Formats: sequence, structure tokens, C-alpha cells
Amino acid sequence: MHVVVTVMVLGIGLTAAGYYWNNLRQSVQMDLRTAYDRQVADTARSAVARLTLYESLLRSSGGLYKINEQITQAEWDAFHEPYDIATRYPDIEGIGLSQYVKRADLSEYLRRRRAQGDADYTIYPQGNRDVYVPVTFNAGYIGNNSKSRGYDGYTDEVRRTAMDRAIDTGKPAMTGKVSLVSESRSGRPSFLLYMPIYKEGASVRSVQERQAAIVGFSYMAVDIKSLAEAIYDAGHSPNLAIKVLDAEADTKNNFVYQSEDYNFIMGQNGSVSDTRTISFYGHRYRVTFAGPPQLLSDRERQLPGQALWRGILTSVFFAGLVWYLVNDRERKYARQKQEEVQTAKDDLLSLASHQLRTPATVVKQYVGMLLQGYGGKLSDQQIDMLNNAYDSNERQLDIINQLLYVARLDADRIQLRTERLDVSTLLRSVAHEHEQSAAARGQRIAVKAPKRAIWAEVDPHYIRMAFDNLLSNAVKYTPEGGSINVSVRRSHGRVVVKVSDNGVGIEQAAQARVFEKFTRVENELSTDVNGSGVGLYLTNKIILLHHGSIELASEVGVGSVFTVYLPFSQPYES
Ligand code: ADP
Repeated sequence: MHVVVTVMVLGIGLTAAGYYWNNLRQSVQMDLRTAYDRQVADTARSAVARLTLYESLLRSSGGLYKINEQITQAEWDAFHEPYDIATRYPDIEGIGLSQYVKRADLSEYLRRRRAQGDADYTIYPQGNRDVYVPVTFNAGYIGNNSKSRGYDGYTDEVRRTAMDRAIDTGKPAMTGKVSLVSESRSGRPSFLLYMPIYKEGASVRSVQERQAAIVGFSYMAVDIKSLAEAIYDAGHSPNLAIKVLDAEADTKNNFVYQSEDYNFIMGQNGSVSDTRTISFYGHRYRVTFAGPPQLLSDRERQLPGQALWRGILTSVFFAGLVWYLVNDRERKYARQKQEEVQTAKDDLLSLASHQLRTPATVVKQYVGMLLQGYGGKLSDQQIDMLNNAYDSNERQLDIINQLLYVARLDADRIQLRTERLDVSTLLRSVAHEHEQSAAARGQRIAVKAPKRAIWAEVDPHYIRMAFDNLLSNAVKYTPEGGSINVSVRRSHGRVVVKVSDNGVGIEQAAQARVFEKFTRVENELSTDVNGSGVGLYLTNKIILLHHGSIELASEVGVGSVFTVYLPFSQPYES
């Protein structure tokens, strides 16, 4: 019963702990997701803010050309100088102007360039094309040698795609990854941002109108790695890692940028990441953001694990407590029940024995009178029958007497009246009393005692009763023809009495029980013999009252030895 209750408490406790742990884990995971989303949003905001700034810069550069188509390279440079680009925007590699020149206008364009001080201005790659979009001016920064002047970007597919989109939409357009014509930082990938410039005063409401009105582009070349690092610094904790792929390039050529710790964070257990396609000025990139679990504090991350441990320990503790309490209650209950049963038994015992003794004694007297001839002459058969009745009544009285003694003992109502007597003599006398019943079973009782008396301070009545029990048991539980030995000696300040037989013996497991009240142990003779199960109980109690002790050694089929120790009486010899 208590096992079930304990397991139930433990089960409920552990389930609750597991449930709580799982909830906490989910909520921590949600917190991590929230922190991650915030970081991603910050990064995106920072990127948009920076690009919007670049867009504004390009709009004003384009505006410069629009108000004065005659500007020179020197003026272009002078216009951009105050922005202090090399220091403030180190990712910008150059800001340039490319004019949109139709074939018919090509010679006029070249003439004007050369007239404006660019004596050796040529367009490359050379060739006959309908449209040329050569770099007119180029202000180069950090490591850019402005070699691109004269380069017709319209001949390159990546650039042309962005330019056409800019023309058609009227909005800035970003290219995919390109390598600059000018020598730039160790050939790292860049992108170009084209801002369309339309003819002053022309209507640009439709695609056709815009295509007709296009005169050129202000454009910017940006080093992707530096830009990413600038955004990275400005936007978020360095815990977030980024990988950027060009969504419009084929997979062999689509790598754009990856922050240094990207692989490490992606490989970390419990990190969060997702990939989104982001369109920057009409060009799509695949951006993967990876956030490590460290986006949350150590304390928060350890919360579920700690809660689980606390839950397990608490469950075990309560299960243990329940186990203890239930067990204790059951123990108390069992003890109480046992005591109640014992009290009831004792009451019954005392009542029964007292009530039974008087009528049994009266029967004995009347049967005795009949046998003595007070009721007239009896036939032999009647005498036989009465003798049987007398013996039976005798045994009944014996049992009643034993029960009475038990009742008295249990009620502590036995007062020993001790005197010094010779134990050898006592044992010879007890043995003598049993000789007849032994002889009837073909048994022999031998008493071995020293010639000199062995004195002990005992109550003659009770000590006789004790030895009487031991001998009658020996006779009862020894098969016909067996032998019974009684010995007495002094040893180490004690009187030692042994009553041994070669009878049925008592199995090991039952040996401790035989001294308990109403205990009868089954053996091959027990069904044939009378017994109440209180003989050894009484014997043990009586010996204890004499400050002695009793021991049993027995083996089934071999025999039993009961050894009684009693204190010496000084002087023990006369
Ligand atoms: P009982 O009235 O049954 O003899 P006792 O208290 O005297 O009660 O003995 C308890 C049990 O111990 C007996 O039922 C019997 O099985 C066992 N017993 C006692 N003495 C002997 C013995 N000498 N040999 C074998 N068994 C014994």
C-alpha cells in the first residue's frame, strides 16, 4: 500500500517537474527567439539607414549634373570632398557619373569630353553599339585609382541589368556582386548602386517616357565586406553572425559575404538561425542570421536545468516523507491492533480459566467419589469408563491451571516465594514423576547429577513447574523407545540444567517462536499429543523471574536440548 502511495507521489512530482521544465525550456527558447529577432531587426534597420544615406548622396550627385551638364572632373571631385568619404564611409570605393550616349551622339560626347580638358578620353571596350554608358567622371576612394574613366559599364551584363532596371523604374538599382574595373582593395567583391538621371523638364511618368528621357546615372561602388562590417558595428551585438549570398547568381558564384564567427555560431548547440531573401534596390540577396544561445544571460539559460533538478529533488524528498509517514502510521496501527488482540486474549484467557476451573474441579470430585464407592458398587466396565473420565478431566484441569498461570504472569501477579533447595534432588523427583508416562512409551529417563547437592535460591512450586514442562515435552515429542537425559552441574557461577531428547526436533526457523504464547509447532507427533502452546512460554517466564535464562538447540529428526541457567545460591554445597 505505502509503495503504491509513494510511487504515486513520486510519479506526480516528477511529472510536474518535467512539465514545468518543458514549459520553462520553451519560454527560454522563446526569449532567445525574441532577443534574436530584435538583433536581426536592429541589423536590418542599420543597413537600411546606411543605404538610404548613400541613396541621398547619389541623388545630390545626380542633381549636380542636372543643373550643370558642363561640369568637369575637378568640380565633381570638389563637390564630393566635403563628405570626407574616405574617413566616414570607408566602404564607398567611388562615386561616379556615367552618361547615357546613343550612337548618334557619340562623336559629340567625345568632343565635349576632350574639350573639357580630358584630352585622351576614350571609351572602352571599343566597338559599334547602339548605346554607350561610359564612365564620365569618377571620384575614387581608398585604393581606387579611377582607372574606370571611359569604361562602358553597359557592356557588362550585371551592370546593364541594374542600369535598365533603374531607367525603367526611375529608382536606384543595385547590381549583384561585381569586380571593379578600377583596382580596388585586393579585388574584393563590390556592388554598384545606380541612380537614374533624366533630362531636365522631361515627363517621366511611364516606362517609355523614362526610357526616352534617360541621360545618365550617378553611381556608387561599395566594398561589400566593409559595408557589412560597418553595419555589423553599428547595429547589434557582435553575437549575431551573418552570411550573404547573391540570390540572383548561380550557386557557384553566389557567395558574397560571411562573418568570421559564422560557422562557429551555426555549429553551436541551441543556436537560432534563419534565412531570408532581402531585396536591396531591386536586387535580391539571401541573408542568413545566426544567433548563439549566449544572446541570453547565463542565468536565464540555466533556469530550466536548475528547475528540473530542484523538481526532482523535491519529488524524491516528498516521496520519502510520504513513505516514512505512511509506514509509520501502518506500523503504529499494526502495533495498536496487536496490543488490542493481546488484551482481548488475556481478558478471555483470565475469564475462561477462572470460570472453567470450578466446574472442572467439581467434576473431578464427583468422579473421585464414584470411584471410591460412594455411589454404590460399580461394575468393572463402569470403573474403566470413570477412570477414563477422571484422566481426561485431569488433563483438562492441567490446561486450565496452565492458562491461569499465564493470566497471572501476564498481570504480574506472581510473587516468588524462594528458598534454598538442591536442584539435583528436585530434578530426580520431577523425572520420577514422568517415569510412568515415559515407560508407557517405551522411553527411558536418565538423570545425571553430582552426589553433592547443588543449591539454588528458587520457588519450589514454580521451578518444578518449569522443569515439569521441559520433561513432559521431551516425553511427548520423542517417539516410542527414545531416551531422555537430564543433567545438572555447576559452571562459571551458574547452575546449568540440560533436558535433552532424541525426539523429532524443532526446525531452525521455528526455534525462536516456541517460547511465545500459544505457539505450537507442527511436527510428526504434534497431532497425537495434547498441548496448549503455553508450556514453554510459562517455563521461560518462570526462569526469567528467577534471573536465569533458557536456550534451545535442536535439529529435526535428531533431537532437542533445552539448557536452563540459574544463579547459584551461596553456599551452594553443604
Ligand atoms: P505444547 O503445549 O504445544 O507442547 P509448548 O509451549 O510446550 O506447547 O511447546 C511449543 C512447541 O514447541 C510444541 O508445539 C512443539 O512443537 C515444540 N516443542 C517443545 N518441546 C519440544 C521437544 N522436546 N521436541 C520437539 N519439539 C518440541
